[in-house]
Amino acid sequence: MSVETSDYIPNFIDASGKKVRGRDATETFGKYVANLLKTDPTVAKMNFPRLRFPRLLSLGYAASDYQKIAQLIADKTIRVYETDEGENIDFLGVYQNTNQFVFARKLTSSPEVNLGTIIHEATHAVQDLKRWRESDRDREVDAHFAAALFMVLKGQENFLTATKYGGYKNLAKSVVKDNPGYYKTFEFSRKVEELKKTINEEYGWKYRDDPAKLEDFHRRQRWDGISN
Ligand SMILES: [Zn+2]
Repeated sequence: MSVETSDYIPNFIDASGKKVRGRDATETFGKYVANLLKTDPTVAKMNFPRLRFPRLLSLGYAASDYQKIAQLIADKTIRVYETDEGENIDFLGVYQNTNQFVFARKLTSSPEVNLGTIIHEATHAVQDLKRWRESDRDREVDAHFAAALFMVLKGQENFLTATKYGGYKNLAKSVVKDNPGYYKTFEFSRKVEELKKTINEEYGWKYRDDPAKLEDFHRRQRWDGISN
């Protein structure tokens, strides 16, 4: 039998509101993700500010943050799911603030061409870990930039084929050329503002009923039960 039978991924619905079939891959594909985050020499070079605070490099993202995510996957605190082959979905990866990644079968079957997406989603996991107070727009701008920076540092920027990554790729290239001075330039801040606007085009559908929500500041409910 080639037909796979499996359950719905727990606590997950896709953008169109439907349940998606898949399986827990924490011990299979999760090991690939954890290994990438822990041992990849390019991840070891990841050190960049939150783009909202470009001058505060030390309060931003560090390689050790990605390594912590690797450890949380290894500990099974963060779980990794993959979708079934036949599932009709429109995403490659998702990180949910319930400590789980969901990756499309398309990605798990050829992760080498989708490393940028893995870094993007891992960046959301870092944001969750840090419990930063920020908007969805901030989260997406940083995650797009992280993916672009990773691929540029790795010399694989040509794998960033999605149009949405164009501006981030150029920004990352300027940063790599003049690191870390470029973060402090007016030009950097101006370009980040331009990229922030493009997030509406990409994610606006999610906030159709209330576009202002993209700007809402929030922080994940703390594990000890104290919200925001
Ligand atoms: Zn994202």
